[in-house]
Amino acid sequence: MNNTYKKTIENAYNITKPLKDQGELATYIPELANINPSKFGVHMTKIDGTNFGFGDHLEKFSIQSIAKVLSLALAVKFLGERIWTRIDVEPSGTKFDSLLLLETYKGIPRNPFVNSGAIVICDILMSHLEDARKEFLEFVRELSDIPDLQYSDKIADSEKATGYRNVALCNFIKSFGNIKNEPADVLDFYFDMCSLEMNCQQLAHTFSFLANGGRKFDGTKIISSSQSKRINALMLTCGFYDESGEFAFKVGLPGKSGVGGGIVALYPNNYTIAVWSPKLNKNGNSFKGMKLLEDVTTHSEMSIF
Ligand code: GLN
Repeated sequence: MNNTYKKTIENAYNITKPLKDQGELATYIPELANINPSKFGVHMTKIDGTNFGFGDHLEKFSIQSIAKVLSLALAVKFLGERIWTRIDVEPSGTKFDSLLLLETYKGIPRNPFVNSGAIVICDILMSHLEDARKEFLEFVRELSDIPDLQYSDKIADSEKATGYRNVALCNFIKSFGNIKNEPADVLDFYFDMCSLEMNCQQLAHTFSFLANGGRKFDGTKIISSSQSKRINALMLTCGFYDESGEFAFKVGLPGKSGVGGGIVALYPNNYTIAVWSPKLNKNGNSFKGMKLLEDVTTHSEMSIF
């Protein structure tokens, strides 16, 4: 079976690689504009521990919004259901950095994966953990088995210098009383969280607990299986912003994208897959990453549906 998966992914990689990207780099974060746009890699980790990859799968990149799934997992682990009074669980139908629905819903973000929702999660973690910045990093170190993982100051500083929309979002939510800490401190943590870097292999490994009922492959319990199912449900319905429907329609897996060009997706009880190609479509999702995953699930007929 592993050989079949490997062949399917290799074929998808070879078919997708020569496609002309229809998209742009995320230049609104100056540091991300310096990435070589032709980078392309994919890595699959199976629940039995076998793993394989192609292309630039061992080169690290900025995971950006993919980290929002990990901060949600930490919040759910410590606070359980209580967080859902502060954030909703509905698809937004808007871009990741939109301010639009915050006015309508009085400062309650639609879901934890749009920027506004992830900023509220950062606020929640700061209120409940002694040192959220440090504890989040330790949590991701444990999930990724990268003991020396660090925030990237270069990327965080670059985003801090130009992150006007996120500043607006955080202040706007604060005006409704749904941010409890100082907006500048919450944003510092948010930008640090988004600055983490991993390669496709590490990313697929990090997310394996969500393909394995909340446990790492070595058996360590991270969250309950019910919490893991719910995070997967949110990735399926909200993981790609205004393109979440399209991703479910064409790929059919829970997943999450980031403006660094990464996408991680998973098939519960089966595998995780991470792909990286920096050019983004108009919804802020990796153009080739989406194409590759569509090809993988179409040709393997492996999808949760
Ligand atoms: N750090 C980015 C931002 O806040 C994350 C966005 C993303 O990856 N979609 O704009």
